[in-house]
This record gives sequence, C-alpha cells and structure tokens, in this order.
Amino acid sequence: MERIDSLISARWVIPVEPEGLVLEHHSVAVRDGRILDVLPTAAALKLYAPDNHTDLPRHTLIPGLVNAHTHAAMNLMRGLADDLPLMTWLQEHIWPAEQTHVSAEFVHDGSAAACAEMLMGGITCFNDMYFFPEATARVASQAGMRASVGIIVIDFPSAYAAGPAEYLEKGLAMHDAWHGDPLISTVFAPHAPYTVGDEALERISMLSSELDLPVHMHIHETAHEVSEAEGNLGMRPLQRLHQAGLVTPSLMAVHMTQLNDDEIALLARANASVIHCPESNLKLASGFCPVHKLQQAGINVALGTDSAASNNDLDMLSEMRTAALLAKAVAGDAAALPAPRALTMATLAGARALGLDENIGSLVKGKFADMTAVDMGGITMEPVFNPISQLTYVANRNQVSDVWVAGRQLLRSRALTTINPDNVLERVRNWQQRLQVTDPG
Ligand SMILES: [Zn+2]
Repeated sequence: MERIDSLISARWVIPVEPEGLVLEHHSVAVRDGRILDVLPTAAALKLYAPDNHTDLPRHTLIPGLVNAHTHAAMNLMRGLADDLPLMTWLQEHIWPAEQTHVSAEFVHDGSAAACAEMLMGGITCFNDMYFFPEATARVASQAGMRASVGIIVIDFPSAYAAGPAEYLEKGLAMHDAWHGDPLISTVFAPHAPYTVGDEALERISMLSSELDLPVHMHIHETAHEVSEAEGNLGMRPLQRLHQAGLVTPSLMAVHMTQLNDDEIALLARANASVIHCPESNLKLASGFCPVHKLQQAGINVALGTDSAASNNDLDMLSEMRTAALLAKAVAGDAAALPAPRALTMATLAGARALGLDENIGSLVKGKFADMTAVDMGGITMEPVFNPISQLTYVANRNQVSDVWVAGRQLLRSRALTTINPDNVLERVRNWQQRLQVTDPG
C-alpha cells in the first residue's frame, strides 16, 4: 500500500476534463497538495494508505469554483444602494463611500468577509480588482485560499494612490513581493476604458507582455459606455484597446454586453477571454452578454459574480444557473449553454482566463487538489438523475459541505477551518455603522 496524505471518496466525481464526464463511486488521492490519482473507490482502498480519508456518500466532488471577477472588499457595501443604473449607483453612492472610507483596514476586513463567504460557497480561487490589493492578497494567503490580485489602475486619486503612475508603482511592488507564491498571483487591472487614459493603457500593454501577466478590465459594460466613447473619441472602447495593443490572449474582458460580429471575430482571433457576470448585468440593467455566440466562435468564457454590492452575493452555483438560463433566452435556444458548459465556465474556463489552467480548474493528475464537495441528498435535491444538471439547475451554495485548496481542508462539514467567522462579523457590523452615517440614501 502506498502512503498518501489524503483520500476523498465521493458518490460522484466530476473532473470537468473531459466536459460532461461523471464518475460514480470514485476517489481522489492527494499527495503534497496535488492530485496523485482519480480512480474507482474500491481500487483506491486497495492501493493507497491515506493519513486522512474523507467519505462523501451522497456528494458530488467538483474542481474548486473559480470566481473570475470580483471586488472582494466591497462585501462591506452589500446592499448599500440597490435598484439603480450603473452610473448613478457608482457616482452617487459607491464612489463617495469609497472616497470617505476606503483604507487598508477597510480592504482587509471586507476581503476577509468575502473570503469566508466564497469558501462557504465552494469558491477556491478569485480574481480581484480593488484598492489596497496587498491587503486582499494577505487575507487570502492567511486563509489558505487562491487569489489572483489586480494591480489596479484608475485615473482618479484615492486613499491608495494619487494617479495612474502611483497605482502602477504600488501594484508592481506588490507583484514583486508575491512573485512565486504558491497561492497568490497578480494581474493588471485597469478599471475600465472610461476611467483609464491612453498613456496608462499603453504602459500596461507593454508591461503585460514584458512580465507575461494577464489584463483584467471592465469593457463594454453598458450601451452608454460605448455610445459615449463613440461620441467623444469617434470609436468604440474595444477598438481603442485594440490600438493600445491590449486585445491579446492575456485579455480578460469583463461584462461585454455590447458586441457586434466584427468585435466577436476580433476577440476570437486574439484568443482573448470574456468574463461573464450575468447577475450583476441583470441587476444594473447593463445588458446581455451574447454568451452563446461567443462560445460558438470558440472564445473562452468564464464566470464571475462581480462584487457583493452589485449582485448581491458571491454564489457561483447560482451564477451558473443564471448564466445558463439567460443564455438560452438571449439565444432563443434551449440547447444554448447546457449544464456541463456552465460548470466548465465556473471552473476550467476561469483558470484558463487567469493563466492558471496547468495547475487548477479540473480534477486531473498533477493539478493542485482544489476541490469542492456538494451534498446532493435530501428533499430539495433528490432524485439525482444527472448530477451536473442538479448542480446547475437545483443546487445552491448551502449544499456545499467541504472545500480544499492544494489539499488543505478550508471548509469541513460547513465549518471554516482558517477564518474565524465571529471575528469577521464583528468587523462587518462595525463598518456597517460607519457607512450608514455617510451614505446619502
Ligand atoms: Zn466589476
């Protein structure tokens, strides 16, 4: 018998690679944080002597969910202002609150709340864009969670930096500090075409290819963004980014609700990724991303929740369902975005967009053991004819029972092992009082 660190046996194991495959009564063998083997449980019990054996008799084991777009610290602004269009929401509520309150402490506390929420919902990796990103990196690292942290760049000053040059300088220092970390990676995160000037965009384009870092940006979020740019600059934002050299395989274009056929062809040729945030787009009435068309063109489409201020939860299982339902309605085709594709978008496609797919995103030998178990038993879930359909159309995050990142268990029978939720809650409540006093309502 071969000694291993842990063996996780489940009623169903869904490796995501190949898409749609469901393995019954299988186990994942883990050693040194990585997947050593995926095999039938009966064979695993003869072959391996695990230090820890977890048996999940009515559960599905899937790759850890990858939230490809969020602003973790904004958990502190969940529900601060709702039922408003994007620009009113930003200009009259979110930006003023940020001007008054955002600090390293705010970002630390908000990120801790988001990490706790995401782990409880089966999310093992998130791609973040916010001020004081090193505070988010520190929180994720301490929680044992995987994060891709944005080097934020925006034209206007904040408590974090005075302008684009300082944002970049601080972000690059963070990149150096975390370079080579097993859990934390960095990407460029220019906020949006309408908040970042040409000079900064060109510098980011150059640095991105020099350092081989992805670029994470809100693009074509609303029709207003596109028509305003056409009026002011005589071109659509994506065209401007293309001229700055940013439409490449490294691009993670978030939202993309406004796309013509030429733009879809451009993204496909460039091998860029699109990050779809259906619930945020619906809530802000931003528009509909043509997901089915993008996928037919061969474009990698990942899923993100966006922040808790515009969603208002960080629940990737519900995001999968919304994405699948919305894509069918937008395409006028019930076969658009089938359940196995929704699961791929929430896992492997996110890993691909982040440039992490050699290490995470599916349950195959050699990748890190980032895994999520979902309890499929009980009145609200059974019968289970097809566990992938059940995950997409029935399950929600309350059925997530256990989570591992690089083989380390961060959620055990719904209890967090590295984050003290009471401590996090106390800070969240404290911030609520402070924010309540200043929001104009
Ligand atoms: Zn966003």
